[in-house]
Amino acid sequence: MYAPPVQRLISELSKLPGVGGRTAQRLAFHLLRASEDDAFALAEAIREVKQRIGLCEDCFNLADGPRCRICLDERRDPGLICVVEEPSDVISIERTHEFAGRYHVLGGALSPIDGIDPEDLKIEELYARVEDGDVREVVVATNPTTTGEATALHIAEGLRDRAPALTVTRLASGLPVGADLEYADELTLGRALAGRRAV
Ligand SMILES: [Zn+2]
Repeated sequence: MYAPPVQRLISELSKLPGVGGRTAQRLAFHLLRASEDDAFALAEAIREVKQRIGLCEDCFNLADGPRCRICLDERRDPGLICVVEEPSDVISIERTHEFAGRYHVLGGALSPIDGIDPEDLKIEELYARVEDGDVREVVVATNPTTTGEATALHIAEGLRDRAPALTVTRLASGLPVGADLEYADELTLGRALAGRRAV
């Protein structure tokens, strides 16, 4: 129906989350109408982000060098680690201005049905940080979903075995059950962080 390059663009766009065939088609036609400058700026932004952004070697947050900006910041408390599922959750928690520690990004949540097991996440790396650092507290801020809760329990147990003196906390309730941290407003998330409880 379309010239092959147009078909290719539609099929690439339809791989994006939340973009079905019709939306992909609409976006493709938008790009065809856009100026060359705008369209190439988008293509270049995608290329640059893939070439320059990697994962921080300490916390696995997004970084444009070996370590992320938060790990490089000497003022951030290395004794307090907040464990989250995705780099976007770091942004959500940073927005609350309630947290002055460091992060640990797991890269997802445990979900045996989807084939996501502990070794697929940065869990061993978290244990290693706790074992060789001066970490006092780990705040487990995985999402309040079934997979997020299962991940929190797994991590809390693993941390207890390895570092009995460590305080392990979970965000307080007040977060909508089944929702992602990404969608929580700053006030709710800030309160949940301030009222975290031991697990
Ligand atoms: Zn980092």
